[in-house]
Amino acid sequence: MRARLYYCGVHDDASYISVHAAVATSPDEPFATTEVELRAPGPGELLVKVVATGICHTDVMTKVKGLCEFPIVLGHEGVGVVEEVGEAVTEFAEGDHVIMTYDYCGDCAQCNRGKPSYCVDHGSLNFAGTRPDGERTHRSAGSPTSDGIVEEITGSFFQQSSFATYALSHESNTIKVDKDLPLATLAPLGCGVQTGAGTVMNTLEVGSGSSIAIFGCGCVGLSAVMAATIAGAETVVAIDLNPSRLDMAKELGATHVFNPSDFDGGDAFLAALGEVSSGGLNYAIDTTGNPTVLRQAFDSCGPLGVTAMIAPGVPGTEVTIEMMGLLPGKSLRGVVQGDSESKTFIPKLIELWQDGVFPFDKLITMFNSIDSVEDAVVAMNAGDVIKPVVVIDRPRGETP
Ligand SMILES: [Zn+2]
Ligand SMILES: [Zn+2]
Repeated sequence: MRARLYYCGVHDDASYISVHAAVATSPDEPFATTEVELRAPGPGELLVKVVATGICHTDVMTKVKGLCEFPIVLGHEGVGVVEEVGEAVTEFAEGDHVIMTYDYCGDCAQCNRGKPSYCVDHGSLNFAGTRPDGERTHRSAGSPTSDGIVEEITGSFFQQSSFATYALSHESNTIKVDKDLPLATLAPLGCGVQTGAGTVMNTLEVGSGSSIAIFGCGCVGLSAVMAATIAGAETVVAIDLNPSRLDMAKELGATHVFNPSDFDGGDAFLAALGEVSSGGLNYAIDTTGNPTVLRQAFDSCGPLGVTAMIAPGVPGTEVTIEMMGLLPGKSLRGVVQGDSESKTFIPKLIELWQDGVFPFDKLITMFNSIDSVEDAVVAMNAGDVIKPVVVIDRPRGETP
């Protein structure tokens, strides 16, 4: 098996596997399926045959805003089947079905207090484009050239880079699931769904009888709507400019839906929010990354209200809060991955889905083949789909 999969480079004795990946080469060029080479799994790593991958706005923002070194293999909502395990892997075996998520060190103060999404190494582990030791995992097919040139490709995005037929993940950011579950459907649990649901259940700990407004009804916002409904919130307000998103929010349990464009200015909109929540909400979640919307979310909360910010906008974006506005015990909290300990939280979400109370699959539109990553991104950006999931479906070695 191993002999079929690997070969040694001309000037490099490390083993590589030839794979296909939807590579981003610049902010403007479309994703293009290309043959690339991926390192064999090292200690603690898993080689995962990717079955499907969700697409998240973080993938798109990283490419469009050039927050990475091109060329890059993005993708951080991958699911698949373990094909090979590296040395010292104890938790997984060949053939396991898995979900991949964000990575963390497991040994810093935040990891030790059960908050791995605030790991001190969160930035480097998920966005640096290398293994934790700084080594690149991807390179161009045919590297090194006869001149000895190795064309490196940025990978290790969220320690997976799942816009590809194969991914390298770690034990820490991989979750085993039952083999009878539909793997492709589970892909968005690795980021978007756990972020929205986790913000309600883990960060805000929304309780029964409370009130919450959710600004933005994408995958994250609608997952928050479902979680708030499960938590027994009495008032669940969903806000979006797209009427079809508001229809979906209602179907998923929102008690009120608002389209800000229906109001004569922000003050009228905030006044309407005040009316449904008896003078101020207990919680608000902003999923938009827009500082004006974040300020509205903050202002919609009443005394002791907590506003959760999930999307920070591009680096350098600032928000202004009136200091007097904080005085009634109000707070504004940044949230990463819904404060989720994915190894326990994702199985919990799967159980809720199986019980029929957390139908996150309604948010998914499937795209067939790795070649459709660009189409899926275009459809997501246009608002035509809520959560695109690309089924990879390309036998290895088949050229585009
Ligand atoms: Zn850590
Ligand atoms: Zn994401």
